Amino acid sequence: MDKTKFGKRFQGKVAIVTASTQGIGFSIAERLGLEGASVVVSSRKQKNVDEAVQNLKARGIEVLGVVCHVSNAQDRKNLIDKTLQEYGKIDVIVSNAAANPSVDAILQTKESVLDKLWEINVKASILLLKDAALHLSKGSSVVFISSVSAFQPPAAMAMYGVTKTALLGLTKALADELAPDTRVNCVAPGFVPTHFAEFITSNKAVRETIEQKTLLNRLGTTEDMAAATAFLASDDASYITGETLVVAGGMPSRL
Ligand code: NAP
Repeated sequence: MDKTKFGKRFQGKVAIVTASTQGIGFSIAERLGLEGASVVVSSRKQKNVDEAVQNLKARGIEVLGVVCHVSNAQDRKNLIDKTLQEYGKIDVIVSNAAANPSVDAILQTKESVLDKLWEINVKASILLLKDAALHLSKGSSVVFISSVSAFQPPAAMAMYGVTKTALLGLTKALADELAPDTRVNCVAPGFVPTHFAEFITSNKAVRETIEQKTLLNRLGTTEDMAAATAFLASDDASYITGETLVVAGGMPSRL
């Protein structure tokens, strides 16, 4: 992907991306930034935030870094406040944070783990938007990052998959609630070799099985996810709201 050839669809726009110091979130922040947005990157660890800010600045991107653990109310408020102090508005929010703390079957999963999955993968997205809603520009855009696992939760990550199914419904419901000034859409990535998916994609046999489940015979890249997210967040998608774009190389994706 030749990153020097990107357009400038986000010139003058301000974009918040949660969980954006590495992996898919980082690539989304990079893509929006290279297309002209002022981007606000965040994650739980100051060191990771500082490194991401440095990396993005080195690519000529206007960037602010804020520590934000998405399930911490004060951190979420701070993320919105600092964005407004620095840039005065919010045009794009990409809600990307997720946890996958267990490989247990759903009925074997501890209540505390069920709570954590709901808290981070679903509730935190709602609460962040609650804090941000009053400050969203006319013509703004929200993108949730779900997963192809939302459509058919795999046994080893079943409850995680179910929280990602919830995001498909949340996309529809909030698209209605925030219309007509804010569009709400969702990207459902296939398997991408990041730290998050390491336990799956680092195993050669598992990796090959997943590759064979795609029509394109490969795993996804973080840049594939960033391209789809940038499309939905941009004015190119100005008549699209309440939709989920599956970016999974043709893996089956039907509820
Ligand atoms: P990743 O490479 O492991 O990156 C995770 C990022 O999230 C890091 O920047 C991490 O930084 C931050 N983070 C983790 N927990 C956080 C929290 N509670 N609050 C704020 N930031 C947090 O993960 P990824 O693969 O890019 O995953 C990103 C999203 O894509 C997730 O929603 C995931 O469900 C979805 N997804 C991934 C795949 C895949 O195959 N990779 C497939 C489908 C969907 P700190 O450690 O500093 O917090």
